Amino acid sequence: MQESSELSQLPDIDGHFGPYGGVFVPETLMPAVRQLADEYDIARHDIGFQNEFSSLLSTFCGRPTPLYFAERLSEKLCGPRIYLKREDLLHTGAHKINNAVGQILLAKRMGKTRVIAETGAGQHGVATATVAARFGFECVIYMGKVDMERQSLNVARMEFLGAKVVPVTAGQATLKEAINEAMRDWVTNVRSTHYLLGTAYGPHPYPMMVRDFHRVIGEEARRQILEKEKRLPDLLVACVGGGSNAIGLFHAFLKDEQVRMVGVEAGGRGLTPGNHAARFQGGKLGILQGTKTYLLADEDGQIQLTHSVSAGLDYAAVGPEHSYLRDVGRAEYDYASDDDVIAAFLSLSRLEGIIPALESTHAVSYIMKHAKEMLSDQIIIVNLSGRGDKDVQQVAQYRAGSGT
Ligand SMILES: *Cc1c(COP(=O)(O)O)cnc(C)c1O
Repeated sequence: MQESSELSQLPDIDGHFGPYGGVFVPETLMPAVRQLADEYDIARHDIGFQNEFSSLLSTFCGRPTPLYFAERLSEKLCGPRIYLKREDLLHTGAHKINNAVGQILLAKRMGKTRVIAETGAGQHGVATATVAARFGFECVIYMGKVDMERQSLNVARMEFLGAKVVPVTAGQATLKEAINEAMRDWVTNVRSTHYLLGTAYGPHPYPMMVRDFHRVIGEEARRQILEKEKRLPDLLVACVGGGSNAIGLFHAFLKDEQVRMVGVEAGGRGLTPGNHAARFQGGKLGILQGTKTYLLADEDGQIQLTHSVSAGLDYAAVGPEHSYLRDVGRAEYDYASDDDVIAAFLSLSRLEGIIPALESTHAVSYIMKHAKEMLSDQIIIVNLSGRGDKDVQQVAQYRAGSGT
């Protein structure tokens, strides 16, 4: 295994995490991607930028978020001590606002006046619409038509915030198609427009930049657990869509070799093609939407359909840094099925008085299954990436038996 201290220095200057990552975009987008990489490189070393970012994280977003000891959940599982990192308490209800704030500050520096974004569950669309309103940007959000129906509440929120939500009907009409449309828009309007990508994915510098904007999650959690328990946790668990909340939690602990890390993907209805989004089960190396990484494709390289009860995890590829962390054995990846996720959603709601986002519930479900393999003096931190208000309808339908 590669030295853990080196792992936290990645990517290299061209955006590679080992064989993964890089920049795979059409020629027309190269100048925009390069401008972004250059500008971010200056901004990340600019104390003024970092101060403005930190200040907004605390006053606008509500950081630091608490590290909460889930006493009844821990008791019920008769296993280790379980802490929840409460990203669900952030403004707009999920971790996504961290990255949205970072990128809108960057867009402002670059003199852009318009932002566009893709969204799956709508959480990233809401976060983007929120920062666009706050900074007076024009805002267009691309969203699959299927997702718009699944997440109509978030569509209304984006519209109230002044964003235009454009339905995407191509293909499966979910997140992948929405990203294609956003990229198309970016090519056409590159002078005025910043593409505010919502996860640790896409061409360099996005995977690195988005990770950096979320690194605060792990930095806070590390400090908080040392304060409360006087030692590091034994295990970190987070759900993995594109991988931003997971890498945000993991990054500050990469050097701590005694801390295990598990990312949980969407197992959906089972691990057969079209029924899940567990890229590390049955996925392979490929290139999609700007980066080289693990993805779900058939024999001919056609991207497979995906399914998850949670729209935010319903994507055929995973962020390149996770592919590398898995290859070198620093992080492990597991999956949770829709059925187990619904059960865990109700358990956490009833045991702790916290209704979690279905995405985050994948991490909770992993703990419910595996806590018994651990000792009672061990410590787990679960990233509760978002709250479940947006999922109430979805869960009610699922329970009524009409769930998809
Ligand atoms: C979008 C979202 C995710 C998945 O995205 P990552 O980039 O993998 O974090 C997870 N949880 C919540 C609450 C989300 O809104």
